[in-house]
Amino acid sequence: MKMENQENQTLWETVWSEANRRFGEPLPAPVAERLQQERDWVEQGGYTEQLFELTRLATMAQKAGCPVTVRDVGASLVAFFAGLTEINPLPPHYLCPHCRHTEWHDDGSAYIGLDLPEKACPTCGALLAREGYRIPAESFFRQIGPGSHRFVVNAAADMQPQLRAFLDSLPNRPKTALRIFDEGEKLGALRKLQRATGVPVREIPPQDSALLAHALPQVASAFLRKLFAVAPPQKLSDCIRLYGLSLGQNTWVGNAEEWLTCHACSLTDVVASREDLFYALRDRGVDPERARAVANAVSHGRGLTDEQAAVIQSAGLPGRYVESCRKIRYLSPKSLAVAYALTDVRLAWYQLHFPAAYAACTRAGQRL
Ligand SMILES: [Zn+2]
Repeated sequence: MKMENQENQTLWETVWSEANRRFGEPLPAPVAERLQQERDWVEQGGYTEQLFELTRLATMAQKAGCPVTVRDVGASLVAFFAGLTEINPLPPHYLCPHCRHTEWHDDGSAYIGLDLPEKACPTCGALLAREGYRIPAESFFRQIGPGSHRFVVNAAADMQPQLRAFLDSLPNRPKTALRIFDEGEKLGALRKLQRATGVPVREIPPQDSALLAHALPQVASAFLRKLFAVAPPQKLSDCIRLYGLSLGQNTWVGNAEEWLTCHACSLTDVVASREDLFYALRDRGVDPERARAVANAVSHGRGLTDEQAAVIQSAGLPGRYVESCRKIRYLSPKSLAVAYALTDVRLAWYQLHFPAAYAACTRAGQRL
């Protein structure tokens, strides 16, 4: 993250300069449009100052060698470029690290960027990066709403006095104070492992099939291991779906578990997160507003009206889709499933490649 000049930059200067650093100038249309849309909403919602302070806080913590994460921003491209989340919410795309060539795949053919096949840059021959978790901007703003959201910062316990002192020193501190929470055992263990092994967390390959098949169950919860037994994950997108299912209510038991066990469908066809349902409809030509209304209703367990069931059927989705949606009591946001999956995949990687360091950093290797 290039943030050296940030003291003198506004939030928007920081965000746009990071966007240009990654994507070049002018920005590709999907990036420029998304940033402008989010900027409008952030300003209308009254969050500019809060996000700016979070950005300064994150930069300060990074410099002190103790990175923080911010909850509830995993669906925001502004937050991604500001360094507040590592989840890039853009549609799946190729990006050339050398000449900035991009190719976009927002038709549902890829769940996340890593589902795209490996490919060389048609312009300069370099291996293209495959990025984007495909989370629409609306997910972020639906989650925070206008004006009153309090963002939660996860930080290590030993870093908290410093962070609080920084927050207290801010002039014109808005009434909506930021809350700081202990980062939790898993994120704390990752930070220690990064320091102990010298391997940066973000450089861990998240798509190694042997890792997902054998090491991931060692660090995942007992409930997730049941899901892995029915639908063994082969790639990161499988993991994200399984974590999404585990975070929902009435999404697995009596629902996806049954369909998958009797081979009525595969993991790619289940409703694992709010965004899955939204995109399943939108990719089949349903008007985005309508698709969003159906996804919202199902996500919060409100079931389906007859009209909404008809929308699903007329989109060409199988009958079990309606049945499945009617059972769901709660659907997780995709950003949360991505964050949880990445955390466990990384812990599994350290455990596989640095077992001694893993044992030392996780209270004698206990399951977290
Ligand atoms: Zn290139």
